[in-house]
Amino acid sequence: MRFDLITIFPEFFVGPLEHGIVRRAREAGIAEIHVRDLREFTKDRHRTVDDRPFGGGEGMVLKPEPLFEAVEMLLGHGVGEAGNKSRPEPGMAIVLMSAAGKLFTQNAARRYAKLQRLVLICGRYEGVDERVAEHLATEEISVGDYVLSGGELPAAIVLDAVTRLLPGAVGNEASTQNESFGGGEGAQDVLASGVLVGGGQPRALLDFPHYTRPAEYRGWKVPQVLIGGHHAEVAKWRRQEALEKTKRNRPDLFG
Ligand code: SAH
Repeated sequence: MRFDLITIFPEFFVGPLEHGIVRRAREAGIAEIHVRDLREFTKDRHRTVDDRPFGGGEGMVLKPEPLFEAVEMLLGHGVGEAGNKSRPEPGMAIVLMSAAGKLFTQNAARRYAKLQRLVLICGRYEGVDERVAEHLATEEISVGDYVLSGGELPAAIVLDAVTRLLPGAVGNEASTQNESFGGGEGAQDVLASGVLVGGGQPRALLDFPHYTRPAEYRGWKVPQVLIGGHHAEVAKWRRQEALEKTKRNRPDLFG
């Protein structure tokens, strides 16, 4: 899968691209990641990417021209203009990172992981000229209900969440199903069993608690059932605990 990140701070991505699963996926050729400096697509001497907002108000807004031209260079063709807009390509999404976007979820990550190509546009300042959201991006995505100072961290989040779902990126593929929001066997069992202890069906299930050695630490013991080696009992305990934890930490998932 190919990722293109468009940013005014290309060096921001050095850290996120150089560690763990994302690094290994790049080295294995599973993910190909290109970072583009938005200023390369400016034409003036000062390499201006922003301008003052129409209608007044504080802050600066990212101009449309460099963003449209950056994406068109990546696509290898124009995206058109009012009244003559080209259709988005199948197998690809152009995503504008935006606090005012739709929420990014594990389902969205799974959907993106099936694409061949993802272009991520990082905003800055007061945001991005709305014509980018309306006529260039195929989606406008937020990573959570808070405002960050730029789209780089959100883009790194999307990149990470999608990359680890690519076939071969994580050693054991079952591990990306049997985790929070995974929809793997454990979750399916609970969601299908209808044995929920009041409160109805959650939309998704969080991960069960994990423990490792020592079996007793500062007087806190690992639950006995995990030590017994009784697989069916362990599975049952994990389902129950996942459910309890979902209720406790994310009651909204039962909405
Ligand atoms: N004025 C905007 C915030 C701009 S923050 C508003 O009130 O919604 C500057 C940039 O940071 C945005 O253009 C976006 O690219 C990025 N950003 C900030 N918070 C984000 C979030 N929760 N999810 C995704 N991108 C975000």
